[in-house]
Amino acid sequence: MELYARVAVELPLRETYHYLIPDDLLTLAAVGARVAVDFGARRVQGFIVALDTASPVEKKRLKPLREILDPVPPLTPGLVTLAEWVSSYYHHPLGETLATFLPPAARAETRPSYIASGEGEGEGELSESGKALLGKIAQKEGGVPLPAWNAQRKPFEELLKKGYLKRVWKVTAPAAPKGARWCLLSPGAPDPASLDARSGRLAALLDLLREGPLTAEAVRGASIPPGTVERAVKKGWVSLLDSPPLAEEAHTLGYGGESAFEPTPEQAEALLAIGEALEKGEYKNFLLWGITGSGKTEVYIRAVEAALAAGKSALVLVPEIALTPQLLGRFASRLGDRMALLHSGLGERERGLQWKAVRSGAAKVVVGTRSAVFAPLENLGLIVVDEEHDPSYKQAEGLRYNAKHVAMVRAREAGAVVLLGSATPDLETWLAAQEGRCQPLRLPLRASGAQLPSVELVDIRDEEKRLGRRVLVSERLKNAVAEAIGRGEQALIFLNRRGFSSSLFCPECEEAVRCKKCSVPMTLHRRGKTGALVCHYCGKTARPPSVCPHCEMSELVALGAGTQKIEEEIALLWPQARALRLDRDSAGDRGGLDILRSFMRREADILVGTQMVVKGHHFPGLTVVGVLSADDALHFADFRAGERTFQTLTQVAGRAGRDSRKGSVYIQTRNPHHPVLQAVKSGDYEDFASAELEMRKLAGFSPYRRLALVRVTGPGESETFAAAKLIAGWLGRHNTRSGVDILGPAPAPVAMVRGRWRFNILLRSPGRETGGLQSLVRALLGDPAGKPGGDISVQVDIDPLRMA
Ligand code: ADP
Ligand code: ZN
Repeated sequence: MELYARVAVELPLRETYHYLIPDDLLTLAAVGARVAVDFGARRVQGFIVALDTASPVEKKRLKPLREILDPVPPLTPGLVTLAEWVSSYYHHPLGETLATFLPPAARAETRPSYIASGEGEGEGELSESGKALLGKIAQKEGGVPLPAWNAQRKPFEELLKKGYLKRVWKVTAPAAPKGARWCLLSPGAPDPASLDARSGRLAALLDLLREGPLTAEAVRGASIPPGTVERAVKKGWVSLLDSPPLAEEAHTLGYGGESAFEPTPEQAEALLAIGEALEKGEYKNFLLWGITGSGKTEVYIRAVEAALAAGKSALVLVPEIALTPQLLGRFASRLGDRMALLHSGLGERERGLQWKAVRSGAAKVVVGTRSAVFAPLENLGLIVVDEEHDPSYKQAEGLRYNAKHVAMVRAREAGAVVLLGSATPDLETWLAAQEGRCQPLRLPLRASGAQLPSVELVDIRDEEKRLGRRVLVSERLKNAVAEAIGRGEQALIFLNRRGFSSSLFCPECEEAVRCKKCSVPMTLHRRGKTGALVCHYCGKTARPPSVCPHCEMSELVALGAGTQKIEEEIALLWPQARALRLDRDSAGDRGGLDILRSFMRREADILVGTQMVVKGHHFPGLTVVGVLSADDALHFADFRAGERTFQTLTQVAGRAGRDSRKGSVYIQTRNPHHPVLQAVKSGDYEDFASAELEMRKLAGFSPYRRLALVRVTGPGESETFAAAKLIAGWLGRHNTRSGVDILGPAPAPVAMVRGRWRFNILLRSPGRETGGLQSLVRALLGDPAGKPGGDISVQVDIDPLRMA
């Protein structure tokens, strides 16, 4: 029986294509294999997605597979099935979807090459060109790669067919890491004091690294020459890594040796239910709803151990920002080398190695961010999604998938258990739990016995009226922080904005200085004497103008306050305090590890920060949390603004008083009666959720109706808008039966980014079913109307989380 390979090529195409399988590739051809094929006049890479016994195209018109690129298929059949779902649901080409499942290193690493086999059929003479090529190949030591299209193709194929060539897989070492190399002290390194006097530099190096890993550059900066590092590496005292060594860092922070806790009764009950589901080996969803500090992580770790004990593998997804040394250290110390780490902060080489450990079956647990949902684990028993409400599970560019949704589809295929954990569940998950599609497990108390902090809403309008000026830090917060510091405790000040002040504002035209390319207000940063305006969308910087560029009349004033401004203010408010600032500007390529470490060690009294300080951190000395303004986020133009604000404030508040001393939280606002803020104060998630759901139902938003965003972008405002109108018109005409709402086109909340105008068309399903919505989108993308041409592009975002 003849088999045909159905191949998804790595090109922006919706179809798959059949190829013949040459005899010499028959044993290697498998679903999930990466292949080289001829496509038109090009040679491209693709993946075998099926082996069919028939082809829709006549056999004589089919081309053969050119080559199979790895000795073992990089993708499992299960992942190919998953990719088919992802590709169809998110309207992304299958070949490109499959390619994103592989880390870059795994894609580049193996290539077949050909050496002279030393034998050959000899049947019939070789052609002249065949002989010449064979002579050349015999001289090349490592063999030659598959020739590019046309170049020597005929003689090459002759040699191959007649058995003169042999295929070998050359594993090229992954590309040398770019950027910093990390020096890390090995556990077996001697005490620097024990080295003799002649090894002064070696001793200095070991001493330096005792404080934690450093970049090669930092080591050089400490006057230790590269030769010394090399010697230390040879002796096995120091190792080099190409990415920030998070797990090791965790160790130096002292999170290494966490031992298991005796589960609290609530933890035990949750684990019992999870264990039963694991035993059944059927798809099932759980919502682990536990307040901050209730010990969700302990439940995750034990659930993973239970999956392993049942002979299954496990996947743990964490949000981008939560991948702290703390969390990693806790997983690493309990799961050891059964665990692989997959996240975008790893260097390419490191990530390739981790991925291989998973593919080979050596690592049975994967901890990682969003894209780890595509990890090649087999026999999957459990998927944990930590902080399941976190928006970073949704990819905003390219393949716009939601890793949480993909996780559920993957688990359903594999018959695995899904454990979604949060203190403030996504309203969609909450509704699913209410409706019995997801089993709730509750952890209502802090595991360590600590109390939840008290929350006070501070109305800063009163104080501003009294003082006749804008107030950044209220008396109330100022005193609370001063008292905490006086008691030797620490404080956290949260502000959702980077930079020095938020923007430069003209009181005359009531306009802020905007980025010319992105149309959003630029942010003032402290840089040099005059400062710099930075666009947080495209990164463009500009010198702050002294008068308004619109009216050229009025002087500009700085509005709002960013982290840098607050940092300055702190010096005035609490002159004795030592302060640290953590935001994307100060974090550097280590994601702020040094800052967190320093604060953890109590080398500072106050930490000022953005979103980055919110998640997963556990600072035992922290008792006071201040939120400078709850209002910006609340009034953001997005139907999820209330939900996001509730989640963020609850998380920030949850940093306070996690140890024995009770914490207090001060939230400054101009809307103290706002229901969302009232809900944060009372900590009543259920109340908040039912009110919010009621509103969503009335307004017709998720989770009751589903959305798709069609975004049309182009270089000129009027052409782009015209194209968007044509598309909206097309959608209207083809929407005869599905009952989908078509809203817009409207300018995106950020109307221009990097010089391209953006218009949104929002599609809304009539109910929870997405069938009609999906077929409308599919019809558009399959029609010439979906490809307006010129420089206009059309992108679709299914279940979008942001309209920007
Ligand atoms: P969450 O992830 O729910 O915010 P964590 O897992 O970080 O909570 O746990 C909060 C604290 O409680 C941690 O310091 C952890 O070590 C501790 N803890 C967790 N489970 C237990 C337990 N069963 N007994 C005692 N302490 C626990
Ligand atoms: Zn810009």
